[in-house]
Amino acid sequence: MKFPEPFGFIFTYFAALPLILVTAQVVTKAIINDVLILKGPCPNCGTENLSFYGTILSIESGGATNNVKCANCKTVMVYDSKTRLITLPDS
Ligand SMILES: [Zn+2]
Repeated sequence: MKFPEPFGFIFTYFAALPLILVTAQVVTKAIINDVLILKGPCPNCGTENLSFYGTILSIESGGATNNVKCANCKTVMVYDSKTRLITLPDS
């Protein structure tokens, strides 16, 4: 379908905007609701790692602490969502 020049722009604008808003809300509810993401450096090598808490895509992670393996040096760290501290479990 081809619109005359000024109406083609208006049609595109009003058709695209609600789609973007609906998509943003759905993504926000599905992924970000009740989720805490902690980011911090590995105590061993300084590489930044992420740890997720809460329900992401209906997969529940564990409790207040998460075991995170460093993406660089494979050191296992414990991220505590309450104290916001990164510790090494065997130290
Ligand atoms: Zn590391």
